[in-house]
Amino acid sequence: MIAEVIVDISNSEIDKVFDYIVPEGEDIRPGQRVEVPFGRQRLEGVVIALKPSPTTSHALKQIEKKLDPEPLILPEFIELMRFMRKKNLRYADCLRLFIPGKLRGGRVRELKRNHLFINTAIDLETGLKSIPARARAQRALYTELYDMKSASEREILEKYSSAPVRALINAGLILKESVAEARIPGGMTINGSRPELTALQSGVVASILSGSGTFLLHGVTGSGKTEVYLRVIEDALKRGKNAIMLVPEIALTPQMLGIFRARFGDMVSIQHSGLSDGERFDEWMRLRRGTARVALGARSAIFAPLTDVGVIIMDEEHDSSYISDSNPRYFTSEIASFRAEYNSAKLILGSATPSVESYFRAQKGEYTLLEMPERVNEKPMPLLETVDMREEIRRGNLGLFSSKLVREIESALNEKNQVMLFLNRRGYASFLRCRNCGYVPKCPDCDVSLTYHIEDNTLRCHYCGARFKSIDSCPLCGYEDLKEGKTGTEKLEMETKRLFPSARVLRMDNDTTRRRDAYTEILSEFSSGGADILVGTQMIAKGHDFGAVTLVGIIDADIALYYSDYRSAERTFQLITQVAGRAGRADKAGRVVMQTYSPNHYVYKFAKSYDYRGFYENEIRARELTKYPPFTKIVRLLVLSEAEDEARRAARGLAAEAATLKKDMPGIFRVQVMQSAIKRLRSYYRYQAVIWIDTSAEDEICPELYEMARRKTSGKVTVFTEINPQQML
Ligand code: ADP
Ligand code: ZN
Repeated sequence: MIAEVIVDISNSEIDKVFDYIVPEGEDIRPGQRVEVPFGRQRLEGVVIALKPSPTTSHALKQIEKKLDPEPLILPEFIELMRFMRKKNLRYADCLRLFIPGKLRGGRVRELKRNHLFINTAIDLETGLKSIPARARAQRALYTELYDMKSASEREILEKYSSAPVRALINAGLILKESVAEARIPGGMTINGSRPELTALQSGVVASILSGSGTFLLHGVTGSGKTEVYLRVIEDALKRGKNAIMLVPEIALTPQMLGIFRARFGDMVSIQHSGLSDGERFDEWMRLRRGTARVALGARSAIFAPLTDVGVIIMDEEHDSSYISDSNPRYFTSEIASFRAEYNSAKLILGSATPSVESYFRAQKGEYTLLEMPERVNEKPMPLLETVDMREEIRRGNLGLFSSKLVREIESALNEKNQVMLFLNRRGYASFLRCRNCGYVPKCPDCDVSLTYHIEDNTLRCHYCGARFKSIDSCPLCGYEDLKEGKTGTEKLEMETKRLFPSARVLRMDNDTTRRRDAYTEILSEFSSGGADILVGTQMIAKGHDFGAVTLVGIIDADIALYYSDYRSAERTFQLITQVAGRAGRADKAGRVVMQTYSPNHYVYKFAKSYDYRGFYENEIRARELTKYPPFTKIVRLLVLSEAEDEARRAARGLAAEAATLKKDMPGIFRVQVMQSAIKRLRSYYRYQAVIWIDTSAEDEICPELYEMARRKTSGKVTVFTEINPQQML
């Protein structure tokens, strides 16, 4: 017997199926992990098929041994791998998505990890006094760790060298201990009551239970979509089926975990990026063995090893986190469709602001459209008012807050309500510029200006993560007056504290949530009333259900409009609707104050009245005229090279080849060479050939384009392919 084996190496040259001899009398089945000789190495692989005789005439080697007694990879996943391979993913990369890292040879086996703890017997002041003044790194590390109380050593070593760590341990100021990784955040205690469904909810649930295929659940914020999901999952479990529930990473809050645990107990398995390898493995095995039957998680949970899937739910289906932004790139919705079809499961896409693409499909009848246009218990949608910030400037108010917003915050605080302030830009100021000579500090590796962070007085590149000590004067001319660029959340937090000194303010953005569990802590503190105002980036916009929030302030609504890609209006509409939807979810009515410099933009007109339908119709007409998705697919061949002319030449070459292909393939509409929005990133120049194709011609055209990209890749240039890119950076 011959086994077809995929070897666990991610390399385009080796990305094929190899034949091996099955040892006499050995019971090996598809899905089995095996060890095989490969060149001079021994590698792990997975058997994907068996056949009586080999396809090649080469001498074959024999499988060394089985790695598990039973096949761990389900037959469905072998099919899925073939499907993903057509979408230009490598076999080995697929396998890595399917099985937890811990199962792969030689990788992290131990469950324990070194953690650093602050010695709590010594207070900050005393501790700092004992550190020499010139030992800056030690002081910074000590101060940081003092706030955090503990952190994994690995996390600390990303930022500090090992010398200060050792020095602080020797001084007895911090302790190092090997501990089992903290368990999954326990979730909040949620009362597990199962409410009576509203009329809208029961109508929707009934349609789903009696129907099949894909459903698009368009329900306004606060319409009670979660309860619909829970009922549909209950029904699946009752029928002996299993369920997958996907949420954006950031919506995987203690609240959400709590709700699912309360309803389904141990049947729920959780998958997200914050888990340790050990936890991830445990949770995976519980699903694989069938002891857990509901997989709840972010994007990667779509690969949950469940058989007999009865329902797959993608909450906030429009969210960009469902599309992986680095290799291996996949669209969660495509995988979800595949799995739903394979299992004859129902697929539910839910959102208050469906992606234009999904709504278009629903309009065409490919999806069943279900609408919940009202909030639970007839709570009104929050009143959304726009403030023209140009008027404020004319009246001499150059600050961040319009007078209207200040008044509203004051009255919310007076009434002991909570406020959320949304600004989708982190840091203190988007750049610094010398007022004398115009010098702007830029990242040496990227073609972008550095963002000023006041917290540790650094200039940081938001693209590659590089950090530099900030400057007080211009390094070119010595001038000491530096202009600050656009305001970020750090400054917003400080301004908020200054204007409302008695309010307790929390901030949530990438910088305050670097530590694991930090964001669940912030959210828990806010939801339990431990703060009055929550300032943050789009992290605060998603899915959260805080009853006491009556006011949402959108500091600069226009940010997403500045990016000139075809999705910018859609993204702006979604963000405003989502963040506005955080207000007035419980007994008290909500209000939203939206500050903008272009109040007449059509997006705001529709957003103001929560008119998704109006927005959609306007948008879809524009897409049709300009031939953008969903009327076409955009294939981007992104060329990276350290030499600018190489990148440019390769992109032009690719465009020329695509133009030639266009003569034979009428499905290609347009070919264009463009410099990327960011010319250089991580020291690689970026050029792109962008190709517009007919949506129905993807399977015919894309393999040709993938092949072109492979041929063009050389020692000097790398070509990445991407369909309907989220950003054109
Ligand atoms: P969405 O996800 O649509 O924004 P949620 O599912 O978070 O809305 O529901 C909004 C609020 O309404 C939640 O606090 C939820 O507990 C509550 N809720 C949902 N369904 C019901 C119901 N049938 N009766 C009473 N309260 C409900
Ligand atoms: Zn950079």
